[in-house]
Amino acid sequence: MPIYEYKCRDCGRLTSVFVRSIGSEVDATCRHCGGSKLSRAISGFAYHKSEATILQEYGSEPKRVEDYRDPRQIGRWVERRFKEMGEELPDQTRKMIDAAREGELPPPLTD
Ligand SMILES: [Zn+2]
Repeated sequence: MPIYEYKCRDCGRLTSVFVRSIGSEVDATCRHCGGSKLSRAISGFAYHKSEATILQEYGSEPKRVEDYRDPRQIGRWVERRFKEMGEELPDQTRKMIDAAREGELPPPLTD
């Protein structure tokens, strides 16, 4: 399922929005402040990049040093995020989480 990222004009934070298909209407609401003034944060359709962005975003969320040392934490945040959004975890994300739990972190974004 494609993911679009939107930037909130009220609080300036990013919200990932799942869309059923490319080109379908998206009724996006900021998950941070509930604002509705969102603009597309990335141009075009970047499914893979969004997947990596989610992992990266949630991989850097914890404030405790111990959390950085435990790659299994990455998967928990992603799983929780998808659960909150009521979405199934995409196979690709599932594989990235499994890899992370083996101690293999996702490759850095190159573009
Ligand atoms: Zn906001």
